[in-house]
Amino acid sequence: MQTPPLKITFLGTGTSSGVPMIACGCEVCTSNNKKDNRLRSSILVESETTSIVIDTTPDFRYQMLRANVKKLDAVLFTHPHKDHIAGLDDVRAFNYCQQKPMELYANSLTEEAIKREFAYAFSDKKYPGIPNLNLNTIDGSPFIIGDIPVTPILVWHLKMPVLGFRFGKFTYITDANKIDVEEKEKITGSEVLVLNALRKESHISHFTLDEAVAMVQELGVPVAYFTHISHQLGLHEVVNTGLPKGISLSFDNQQINL
Ligand SMILES: [Zn+2]
Ligand SMILES: [Zn+2]
Ligand SMILES: [Zn+2]
Repeated sequence: MQTPPLKITFLGTGTSSGVPMIACGCEVCTSNNKKDNRLRSSILVESETTSIVIDTTPDFRYQMLRANVKKLDAVLFTHPHKDHIAGLDDVRAFNYCQQKPMELYANSLTEEAIKREFAYAFSDKKYPGIPNLNLNTIDGSPFIIGDIPVTPILVWHLKMPVLGFRFGKFTYITDANKIDVEEKEKITGSEVLVLNALRKESHISHFTLDEAVAMVQELGVPVAYFTHISHQLGLHEVVNTGLPKGISLSFDNQQINL
């Protein structure tokens, strides 16, 4: 199945604490540049007929309002860390408007966390108004949502399996610091890659800026945008100016057409 033309919107590009971080007075957190304000990491993937969100961050409600999302067909989850699932309850607004369950796609690890952390949505006695969720297990095989084919890619967040997603020429990977050879092959040929780059100093479970640059160059993807950015990375304009050709920091509300 052919991938239709896609519009990608960065709903959030910040690490788990967001930028600014609560109570921080650093130059990034106090910057007047809008590009230094980052909600938690998530993107919206849209074709003419289908809308998909990757992850429901703690900022999900505001992200949907800010991007004026009127219809949502599915949520794809990367992994169960709180900054990627916490906002799930607010999909109930789409339940009301669309009069059907929200389709969720996740690996078994994330499914277990969703059932545990949002247990009320899966109980036999349902309180009125709770989210109506339909879990679909991602087993590693490609699948289709509406008119958008999706290829899951397994990456590692220290020892936690995380899912990246490829949509035609576009690949989105967050919260990784290692990618196996077979999975790298699934990324090869992408024209645009979004990859996590937390900060300059090393981290136990995230690519650093240098590691992310090296990974983009190894994969040979011509255009890359970094996401899941910490206030520790530095000012957007300063860091962005120093990156190699084709690579840039993403920022909230940025859009890409493919
Ligand atoms: Zn994260
Ligand atoms: Zn700060
Ligand atoms: Zn994580």
